[in-house]
Amino acid sequence: MRRKIIAGNWKMNKTLSEGLALASEVVNIAQDEVPSGVSLVLCTPAIHLSQVAAILKSADRVFLGAQNMSEHESGAYTGDISADMIKSVGAGYVILGHSERREYHHETNAQLAARVKLALNKGLTPIFCCGESLATREAGEHVGFVNNQLKESLYELSAEEMSKVVIAYEPIWAIGTGVTASSDQAQEMHQSIRASLAGQFGEQVAGQVSILYGGSMKPDNAAELLAQPDVDGGLIGGASLKARDFIQIAK
Ligand code: PGA
Repeated sequence: MRRKIIAGNWKMNKTLSEGLALASEVVNIAQDEVPSGVSLVLCTPAIHLSQVAAILKSADRVFLGAQNMSEHESGAYTGDISADMIKSVGAGYVILGHSERREYHHETNAQLAARVKLALNKGLTPIFCCGESLATREAGEHVGFVNNQLKESLYELSAEEMSKVVIAYEPIWAIGTGVTASSDQAQEMHQSIRASLAGQFGEQVAGQVSILYGGSMKPDNAAELLAQPDVDGGLIGGASLKARDFIQIAK
């Protein structure tokens, strides 16, 4: 059975007091309203992690994640955050390879391969993001493009390591634009990701990996996207900044 995960990516939003208020509200509502088979993950700005961790202590199914991580263990990398630091403040997840990091910080597939491996070695669950631009989709090359991202960043892992990775398919043209992929477009890509995983790691591993959809997922389009057989959850940006919307998606 695959885990159902609704992860919130707060990006660079919320001051500390606003973030703590949001996390508390999510925990309070989640207790009563989120179905028991669903895990929530809050990926907050790094500077808030340790204080949000204290709020999440009392919650069973709300977990904590960082939004990025260095491929280096420690050292002279000003401004970067290590896997050990993320672990040490009580976070269990880390988003890797978000398209905004790939675009604005020039993160490469090879660098992300090293980060995924290091995160797993340190006992963190990577939420590995992939997804194509509009131009790539219009050229009909989206399936091959995403497959290549998986190949270059994940396919050196062992089957056991791969079974611990969460994948988020986030078409770039759908992020923060209000335009979501249709449920057919999402299912097509999720199915092709799972088939690619099966080819590389076997059916059993492919069947275990949770594949989340991200890109303008909102309370009014979540049900249809999440009803697709290969869509196991969501990575939510804008709608994770309001506790009610975020929980509504999880419901
Ligand atoms: P969005 O962002 O829900 O605001 O489109 C999703 C993401 O970038 O993770």
